[in-house]
Amino acid sequence: MSSIQIRNVTKRFGEFTAVRDFSIDIEEGEFVALLGPSGCGKTTTMNMIAGLEEPTEGQILFDGQDLAGLRIQDRNIGFVFQNYAIFTHLSVYRNLSYGLEVKKVAKPEIERRVQAMAERMSISHRLDQPASSLSVNEMQKLAIGRSAIVEPRIFLLDEPLSNLDAGFRAYMRAELKVLQHEFGQTMIYVTHDQIEAMSLADKIAIIDRGRLMQYGAPLDIYNDPQNRFVANFVGSPRMNLVDGELREERGALHLMLHGGAEIPLSGKVRADFTCDGSVHGGSFGVRPQDIYFGEKRGGDDITMHGKVEVLERVGPKRLAHLQVQDTLFLAFDDLDQLRVGDEVPFFLPSDKSLAFDMKTGRRLG
Ligand code: ATP
Repeated sequence: MSSIQIRNVTKRFGEFTAVRDFSIDIEEGEFVALLGPSGCGKTTTMNMIAGLEEPTEGQILFDGQDLAGLRIQDRNIGFVFQNYAIFTHLSVYRNLSYGLEVKKVAKPEIERRVQAMAERMSISHRLDQPASSLSVNEMQKLAIGRSAIVEPRIFLLDEPLSNLDAGFRAYMRAELKVLQHEFGQTMIYVTHDQIEAMSLADKIAIIDRGRLMQYGAPLDIYNDPQNRFVANFVGSPRMNLVDGELREERGALHLMLHGGAEIPLSGKVRADFTCDGSVHGGSFGVRPQDIYFGEKRGGDDITMHGKVEVLERVGPKRLAHLQVQDTLFLAFDDLDQLRVGDEVPFFLPSDKSLAFDMKTGRRLG
């Protein structure tokens, strides 16, 4: 086990900056996901932790110690990559025992640990067979078992589930979580899949174009996104985010949306939009789960009118696509009464609505 501090790390490849002034602290035994769109710098960050790349600026400390210059094999790090680096010509047994042999672990101990890991991964009936004979799913289990068996102090996983079909992926997600509880290792997990990050990680670092956008527990990030990027990236279905110009008329503040619709602002969300007098272009955000129909519940809640264009089944609920002039809002049909074509009022709860500076993306309020 080990704690990791990443301090002001920047990585440049020639003129191109892949990671920019990146700082996070990872506690011992924590499961941290690096989450962001393709090309945002997740793998580069992981490679620097692993020692495969050197930071251009900044430091990476393990238990307070700078590892710059320390060889990869001396860092005691376990890896699982998307294309799982299995020795396909060796038996499943040898794939599992290899790392322990390198560490000169005694033979009976190797035997015991290989058996235990194979059982853990439900591949004990395959031990004598060549790894090349395994299915994709078994191969992935072997890749994880092979890295976990040497009990590295840090476990790095780069999109380890991305080749798997949806059902097995969900199963492996649960397995990984159990494994982490059992071994208590510090784990860093690269993914572009927010559902995976939300369900697995103790903390998530959300990255956009090499910059850390937010770092925190999944629920804190979901409930309290600090900027428009994070608000948009986390949550399924996505948050409704609409951009417009703030306009004050006879004491009432409106967000004028493109295409003519407007949101009358009141309560907390009005206060958020006006907290920084220099902001004129704003983004309004509300999650589909928080919009409601029927009777207005809070005095500060915002009333809108829209036409139900589509009703989409999402699990046990129906997701309504509500057209308000040129703007679309998604909302769950909480009363189960909507029909396509209806013109209906719907309500945006003021205390669940978020305001962002359209130019910088920064959360207001
Ligand atoms: P993905 O999910 O697609 O793997 P990522 O978030 O892991 O994306 P990185 O692989 O870290 O992103 O790449 C970040 C950026 O740095 C990309 O634009 C990539 O092209 C660039 N990059 C990565 N490695 C190098 C390199 N050795 N030389 C030049 N550019 C590089």
